[in-house]
Amino acid sequence: MSELAQLYPWHASHWQQLSGSEDKLANFPHALLISGIAGTGKKALAFYLAQTLMCHAPHKDPQTKALHPCQQCRACLLFTSGNHPDLQYLTTAEDKKIINVDRVRELIQWTVLSSQLQRKKVVIIEPADAMNQNAANSLLKTLEEPVPNTVLLLVSNKKQSLLPTIRSRCQTIDIGLPEPAMARQWLEQQGVNESALMLALSSGAPLKARQLAQEEAQAIRKEVLEILLQVADNRIDPVSGADVLFKLTAVKKTKTAKYKLTASAFDIIYWLDSVITDLARLSQIELSAGAEQFISNIDYQQDLQQLSNRLYLKKLMQLSDSVNKAYYEIQGSINLNLLFEKLLIDWKNCLK
Ligand SMILES: [Zn+2]
Repeated sequence: MSELAQLYPWHASHWQQLSGSEDKLANFPHALLISGIAGTGKKALAFYLAQTLMCHAPHKDPQTKALHPCQQCRACLLFTSGNHPDLQYLTTAEDKKIINVDRVRELIQWTVLSSQLQRKKVVIIEPADAMNQNAANSLLKTLEEPVPNTVLLLVSNKKQSLLPTIRSRCQTIDIGLPEPAMARQWLEQQGVNESALMLALSSGAPLKARQLAQEEAQAIRKEVLEILLQVADNRIDPVSGADVLFKLTAVKKTKTAKYKLTASAFDIIYWLDSVITDLARLSQIELSAGAEQFISNIDYQQDLQQLSNRLYLKKLMQLSDSVNKAYYEIQGSINLNLLFEKLLIDWKNCLK
């Protein structure tokens, strides 16, 4: 579990707020909501905080005076091995998207047991917005009548979709995006090339940028972009283009396969969305120089700028709506090939 618990450089000021003194740790709120956009390390921060709250001898940073886990005590060793009895991590099961009421009830029963290591007990719920209505209502009782020495850490990218009554009973810390220079420096330390491009593609979220920097993710992005360009220039018809996209999602990786990439339907929709959003921005703003401030796919700026001059903006906005709907459609049983065909035909119709 140790790799889960991390403090990233852009968490420094938040950490000061959470763990800046012994008093802060001793009087820690009974429920904290860690919110902010995806890819900023909120879950890692929650685990690091849990470890610090449970550590028997937190170590004080001589410069900042903030406390950190000692990494040596029994609690830290148990935590690192993933066996700390006073920590519960509630998340979605692999094949499910929600956290149901039974799992929250089990958790509540656990919270009333006494701490095994005579310290704080910590519960991490991530993503907290995955709790369905019943689960959230069940948790609410625990928030209303806090169990002594038990801390609840809720982690969410979608704070607004939590019950207002849950939000109002938690203290909240919002993890914003880091300064681009700090994010780029961190990405470069992680061995990421083209850090500016990766950061643009991830809307500034560094962990997302690191994930998108993987060779396969970039190959899929380029394939989607190329199909859009080819359809736009009549080099491929929308039906054949859809077939290429579909094969990306269907073909398993083998050494002999023509397509060596395997994309999820989500990946394809994500990149379609990314390109369409860029085009909408380029069509709406008067710009020549400096377009890279407004778009994600900065390496395709020239192609996208040319396309933006040939677009019916109204049709592009309709396509954007269809792509947003597609995120939900692909979660059900839908004929993907037909979906891609429809989107590419609509794309073709966006162009003058
Ligand atoms: Zn420790």
